[in-house]
Amino acid sequence: MNSSRQDTLDLLRRAEDDPRRRILIRDATVVTGDPGSGTLDRADVLLEGSTIAAIGRALPVGDAIVVNATGMIAAPGFVDTHRHAWEAQLRRIMPDVDDLGAYVTKTLLGYAPVYRPHDMYIGTKLAALTAIDAGITTMLDFSHNSRTAAHSDAAVRALRDTGIRGVHAAMAPHFGTWDHQWPADLTRLREQHTDDLLTFRLACLATGEIAGPDLAYGPRLARHARELSVGVSVDAVFGESSSRAILEWERQGLLGPEVTLIHATGLTADAWRAIADTGTTVALAPTSDAQIGLETAVPAVDEALAVGVRPGLSIDVEVALSSDMFTQMRVLLAIQRMRAVEGVHGTDRVSTRIGVADVLDFATVQGARTNGLERITGSLTPGKQADLLLITAEAINTMPLNDPIGTVVLGADARNVDTVLIGGRVRKWAGELLEVDLAALREEVTASRDHVLTAAQAVLR
Ligand SMILES: [Zn+2]
Repeated sequence: MNSSRQDTLDLLRRAEDDPRRRILIRDATVVTGDPGSGTLDRADVLLEGSTIAAIGRALPVGDAIVVNATGMIAAPGFVDTHRHAWEAQLRRIMPDVDDLGAYVTKTLLGYAPVYRPHDMYIGTKLAALTAIDAGITTMLDFSHNSRTAAHSDAAVRALRDTGIRGVHAAMAPHFGTWDHQWPADLTRLREQHTDDLLTFRLACLATGEIAGPDLAYGPRLARHARELSVGVSVDAVFGESSSRAILEWERQGLLGPEVTLIHATGLTADAWRAIADTGTTVALAPTSDAQIGLETAVPAVDEALAVGVRPGLSIDVEVALSSDMFTQMRVLLAIQRMRAVEGVHGTDRVSTRIGVADVLDFATVQGARTNGLERITGSLTPGKQADLLLITAEAINTMPLNDPIGTVVLGADARNVDTVLIGGRVRKWAGELLEVDLAALREEVTASRDHVLTAAQAVLR
C-alpha cells in the first residue's frame, strides 16, 4: 500500500466511531443502482457517520476525509440472499455433486451432526470474510445447523466479528441430536444480539420431504415469525409438492413480502401467480439450481419476470459452488439468454433478454428487498447505509472503462474490489481485507476441517 493510501486509512480508522465524521469519495464513476439517479461520471459520494449523505458532482469538501477514487467505480455492495455459511470449511469437498440426495447425505447427515459451536464459528467467519473480500456487504446466513443455543450464538458472533451486514436465519438441523431450542430460542437470539448490522429471520423448508414436518413452513412457524416480527426464508422450494404448498400458504394467508422462497425451480404457473399476488420475495440460486439439478435445474428468472417478480440472488453451498456474486450474475445472464434464444430458435419470433443492469439490480437492490432491508442497503441513495464498493477500472482486466455496469457485471472479480465500506466502516482497503491474519485464520480453518472430517468418519464407520 502506498503511503498516501495508508495515511487516508489511518484517518478513516481514527475517526471510525465518530457519528458525525464525514468521508468524501471523490471523482468516482458512481453506479448508484438507484433508478432515480442512474450512473454518474466523475462524481462524489459524501458519507456522514454510517450513512450516505449526498451524491453529486464537485460536492464541497468541508471537514470531510477525502478518498481519491479516480479510476474507480463506486457501486453498492452486493447482497447475498441465502448461503449456508457454516459449511465453508468444507469448501469444494464435493465439486462434482449432481444430485440433491448426495449433497444431503454427505453434508447434512454426515458432517453437520459433528459440528461443535467452534466449527460453526469458523465456517461462518470464513464465509463472511470471503463475501466481504468479493464485495458482498450483506449476507443472509441460512444457518441450518442450530443444534444448541451455543451453536447459534457462535454463528451470530462470527457474523458480528467480521463486520458484515449479517442476517442470521436460524433453522434446526435436518438430522442428528439437538436441543429442540429452535424456534423458541430465536427470541433470545434477537434480544441478545440485534445491533446496527445484525438482523434475524426464521429459516425453514418448503415441505417435510427432506427432514420431516417440524421444519416445514406452515401456520405454526408463520405465527412464531409474526410474533417476533421477523421475516421467513424458506429453502428447498421446487417442483409440484412445493407448488401445492405455496397455494396452501396463500389460502392460509401465510405469504407476503416478509416471506422469501428460495430456488423456486419447476414451480407451476399457479404457484407463480400466488407469489406475485402476495408480493412474496424470491431468492434464485443460479449455480446450485443448475449444478445440483434442483427440479428443472433452470434458474426461474423468466417465470419470475413474467409475473413481475424481480428476484434476489444467492450463493447457497460452498461445498460445491463458487463463493462470489460475480459468478451468480454471469451464470444467470448466460442461462437466461440461452433460454430466450433457444425458445425462439427456428421461429421468426424475437426473444426478450435481460441485460447487465438487470442482474446487477438483482444482486443489489432486489437482494436487499428480499432480505427485508430495502430501506437500509442495496443502492447508493442518500439516507441509506454506506455499504459501498470501490472497484478499480484501471486493472489489466477492467481497463479501459467503456461501460461501468458492464465492467462490474462482466469484467470485474474479487481482485478488483479495492475498497469495501459497510455502514461507513472500512473492511477492505487497497485490495486487502483489514484485521484478518490470514495465516492464523488458515490454521483455525484447517484444524476445524480436520476435526469435522475425523469425527464424521468415526460416526459413519
Ligand atoms: Zn439452501
